[in-house]
Amino acid sequence: MKYIVVTGGVLSGIGKGIFSASLARLLKDSGVDVSVLKVDPYLNVDAGTMNPNQHGEVFVTEDGYEADLDLGHYERFLGEDMKRSNNITAGQIYSKVIEKERSGGYLGSTVQIVPHVTGEIKDRILSLQGYVNVIEIGGTVGDIESEVFLESVRELALERSQDDFVFVHVTYVPYLSVSNEFKTKPTQQSVQLLRRAGINPDMIVVRSEKCVGEEVLNKVALFGGVPHDMVINLPNLSNVYSVLETLKDLQVHTKVAQRLSVKLKSCAQWIYPKDFKPFRVALIAKYLGTDDAYKSIVESVFLSGCRKPETVDSEMLESLSWEEVCEYLDQYDGLIVPGGFGKRGIEGKIKAIRYAREHGKPILGICLGMQLMIVEFARHVMGYADANSTEFDPATSHAVITMMEEQKRIMKLGGTMRLGSQEMEIQPRTRLWKIYRGSHKIKERHRHRYEVNYDMFQDMFKKPSESGYKLVVAAKSAFVEAVELQDHPFFVGVQYHPEFKTKVGKPHPIFVEFVSSISREEARK
Ligand code: GLN
Repeated sequence: MKYIVVTGGVLSGIGKGIFSASLARLLKDSGVDVSVLKVDPYLNVDAGTMNPNQHGEVFVTEDGYEADLDLGHYERFLGEDMKRSNNITAGQIYSKVIEKERSGGYLGSTVQIVPHVTGEIKDRILSLQGYVNVIEIGGTVGDIESEVFLESVRELALERSQDDFVFVHVTYVPYLSVSNEFKTKPTQQSVQLLRRAGINPDMIVVRSEKCVGEEVLNKVALFGGVPHDMVINLPNLSNVYSVLETLKDLQVHTKVAQRLSVKLKSCAQWIYPKDFKPFRVALIAKYLGTDDAYKSIVESVFLSGCRKPETVDSEMLESLSWEEVCEYLDQYDGLIVPGGFGKRGIEGKIKAIRYAREHGKPILGICLGMQLMIVEFARHVMGYADANSTEFDPATSHAVITMMEEQKRIMKLGGTMRLGSQEMEIQPRTRLWKIYRGSHKIKERHRHRYEVNYDMFQDMFKKPSESGYKLVVAAKSAFVEAVELQDHPFFVGVQYHPEFKTKVGKPHPIFVEFVSSISREEARK
């Protein structure tokens, strides 16, 4: 088995994940059996308890693992479902070592970072199933947390034959406008840090705002100690899916494969959307700290052939009068109310839903978004003025959303929600039935603690309300899984997360239909 280790230098967030995913896909398309592993050096056991404001979205896999968003890039690029085993965190490794120590697994020895922690990491790496395994080490070289992971791959490379490992270092070369030049010093220093950990890069990928000149790349080659042809420049591109094409043009996959003595077949054509409908979709958001907080939703819209959504601060909507909200949202062609936790911004999202319902604007509610569609309907159509989710108002007399029974007994927060792929039944004669092309039983990914209190509020779904609005249950399991409003261009709320299933060339059909409904509305106007 072969391993491609991708490390990062200078800054985090320069696109190591996209690079790794693109390279993995290129190899796959060249006939190689590829697997990927994201290494997260943080001490959390998984990303489940992390705030999307700091770390970006929590990506949920089919098997119910709450992962770093890079696993989402891997799924979308590779067109394959990721699993729990595609991610390791320092938290998992350390807890395993400590557990083993407590049960006498190291009887007689002093348990140490080397060889015990490194041993555990090496075991996880060696259990990867691909013929070629792309291992992306999160964070930046020099971080105290990642040292033990670098040490582990260094040892592994030494223990195995020379052509089993290739090290790719992705760095950043900043451009100084005052002197009109690119600066390679941070890259030089980051390669030095890597060398100090005992690793010599085989390839250096230079990320930059725009194309850097030959002399700059020569300098990186010289100071980085790699041949000139192993320095790759990857300037910013407006469409991340074209990174793969750039890598292909630069023969990155063939260069890496050569180092690993892996034979490639001729590479299949990579097809991705290049033209985008200019619709303005508003994402009614509360996590505004990073563009990555709603990554999979944004990519699902984009991969459905529509311009990326714009984030609208739900707290800002909260502070506007009803007339101002309507005027503000009028400029958008469609709305998405995403998932989330906690009370902040809730009333702003409810206003957006009311606006979409009353103005016939296409709207997709996801998880919390669907729950708030129910709250909004209960309040303004059914007349239950104080209706709410008990997540936000435990004392409400109309608890239309309540905690799932099984969740009430759970005391721990990490990894305990209703997670991952769950089966449900799509109801005939609904919009979802058409979207899923008549499949009766389907599976979608979940991540929630609360549910629609269907038993107590069945009247909401009974008949058209006096005002003529009719809400129907479009999918159910033991829980209400989806609702939709009849006689509306697109008013669909889903308890699950369709965004996690989008792949390049195969966007989730709910997003495709959402975008089509906007097209139809635009054509009608
Ligand atoms: N907070 C809600 C719940 O726990 C919604 C969760 C979500 O949007 N992922 O059910």
